[in-house]
Amino acid sequence: MQDKEENISKKEPIKRSIDIIRFPKNGSVVDVNSLLRKYDEDESELHKMRYRIEQGIQSGNAECVCYYCKQPVKLISFMAGVRIFYFQHVHNSGTCPVKCKKSRLSEARIRALQFKGAQESREHRELKESIGNHLCMDKAVLDVRVEGVHRHYNNRRRWRRPDIFAKFSDKEIVIEIQRSRTFLSTVVGRENYYRENNIYLLWVFVSFSTENNGQTFIEKDICYNHLYNIFVFDDEAQRISRELSELVLACYHKKFYLDGWVIRSYWGKDFIGIHDLIYDTSHNVYYYDSEKEKQSLEHSLSASKNSPSLTMQPGPPASNSSGR
Ligand SMILES: [Zn+2]
Repeated sequence: MQDKEENISKKEPIKRSIDIIRFPKNGSVVDVNSLLRKYDEDESELHKMRYRIEQGIQSGNAECVCYYCKQPVKLISFMAGVRIFYFQHVHNSGTCPVKCKKSRLSEARIRALQFKGAQESREHRELKESIGNHLCMDKAVLDVRVEGVHRHYNNRRRWRRPDIFAKFSDKEIVIEIQRSRTFLSTVVGRENYYRENNIYLLWVFVSFSTENNGQTFIEKDICYNHLYNIFVFDDEAQRISRELSELVLACYHKKFYLDGWVIRSYWGKDFIGIHDLIYDTSHNVYYYDSEKEKQSLEHSLSASKNSPSLTMQPGPPASNSSGR
């Protein structure tokens, strides 16, 4: 059951039924426990792996498969005091000697239950309209549509209904508001769709906690796979938007620094407009490239380790930036 925290008794031992997986692209066979142990200290790598696996499944080019049956597997997790990651066969896969017999709810069934439980709230609708209205006030933004149907450029039978669609300069942008639990497969599916249509997609949350255990699983999926940038239309951003008569979002972004030989991070927060963002040729939208910052620190760390004469300069964290 993907993205769904299951109520599993804490007494139940942690047992991963798929203990060996294979990466078909390079032919490597990997023990799951040792693979996952490598990422004990950095969960971001697991969320990036989850994203690559989901992309592979959706494109029919599996990133990793079950060692026993050669069918694609997904990386999922549940909470049992601590978060446990494990690999599971894709729903509706064929038989396998290590397949869990316990019946699981399909994603479609879970979605139906979620939908039944919570039809889109009035608040969600008001937020969409508020974002749409603030974009309309911006003279540089054209063709703002809230909940309009978008059809695929070369297949009219494929379509989406984005929360907000808008055009500005030479770009088309879609804003999707994240409120309830969403599946990673939905996130990856929408990103693929909009990328194919040359549209930038911005996920916007209503609130965000900078505390690691205050963040939902899907927030982590989105954060770690979007250069550690999270966009939020919280009360403060809504107030500033009203004052400035334009859309203003809070952007939380990780700032990485060296503390001796260890890479540490803290959250920066800035209020930004859509014109302050970087829209790159790979259809990433971001404010601050935290991924690049982290990688460059990793490179300088490994370079320093290889030439011990260099000493590391620890960079103390500045206080959180704010304001525009
Ligand atoms: Zn299998």
